[in-house]
Amino acid sequence: EDEKRKYIKGKKLGEGTYANVYLGHSRRDPSLLVAIKKIKVQQQYQDGMAPDAVRELKYLRELHHPNIISLLSVFSSKDQNLNLVLEYLPLGDLEMLIRDVDRVRYGAGDIKAWMGMLTRAVWFCHDNFVLHRDIKPNNLLIAADGEVKLADFGLARGFADPGRRMTANVITRWYRPPELLFGARHYGGAVDVWSVGMVFAELIIRAPFLAGNTEVEQIALICKQIGTPTEEVWPGVTQLREYTVPSDVVAVWGKEAYMTRFGAVGADGVDLLVKTVALDPKKRITAREMLQHRWWRTDPKPTKKEDLPRKS
Ligand code: ADP
Repeated sequence: EDEKRKYIKGKKLGEGTYANVYLGHSRRDPSLLVAIKKIKVQQQYQDGMAPDAVRELKYLRELHHPNIISLLSVFSSKDQNLNLVLEYLPLGDLEMLIRDVDRVRYGAGDIKAWMGMLTRAVWFCHDNFVLHRDIKPNNLLIAADGEVKLADFGLARGFADPGRRMTANVITRWYRPPELLFGARHYGGAVDVWSVGMVFAELIIRAPFLAGNTEVEQIALICKQIGTPTEEVWPGVTQLREYTVPSDVVAVWGKEAYMTRFGAVGADGVDLLVKTVALDPKKRITAREMLQHRWWRTDPKPTKKEDLPRKS
């Protein structure tokens, strides 16, 4: 109740699937701007916002990292709505930049900078036993100083103990890894790494890499563009509860095949991309290993955040 009194709510900034977002400021320091995200009632007790998600959010308040949106406070309003007080990020999101092909130009150094910020955010989540589970360009918000921040922890949760089952119905379809499309109930950080790979590909080609209209189509696209998940490349995959692939098996594409389409980030960048989209989650690179990849150190260097392209 005290938390609510600390902030004054202002105009509506936007409306999302799960929430209405308002500009706000601190009562004590009116120059401190915040975004107040009011979760829609009917959403609160669905999977993403189950009561234990409230507990989850409480510990996200302690997840402090420059590339993760700060959750400053959580309170419930008189109508029982859950309100999240977040740092205010005024420069839009990565999706806006990717899509604005006519006005926004960017190159390999910019992609490297954005990918570095995203990868550090994901590594930090995983290092603290939190899965984000909804990584996509639209959830990567941009701060006034150009820093990219992973936002929208509505679907986040802690790593389950190995015995506990989790829902497979998470992550926006285009960014969803094969293990989730096949209904896996035991999964880990690799689900986020796949999404990071999809964002990486999208930054390069400036269009979603695998944009299926249905789950079946999404699986078909993965098979066609990456390779068919079979026992040979992914032992145990055929045992997943919803395993089904098109009958014409496609061999997993090699690095050379990616070079033609994604070569703008160089051979090292393509090497990293290929490792993030390994079909078998056990063989997929981890966020920690991603940070050790040589791509970050080869030219071009990541662009300084203050020099990154912005929305016009
Ligand atoms: P969705 O993820 O469905 O786009 P959100 O509920 O996350 O929607 O946010 C809705 C809108 O509110 C966003 O498009 C954005 O314009 C705005 N918004 C969300 N969070 C912030 C924030 N921290 N700072 C500034 N604007 C925000």
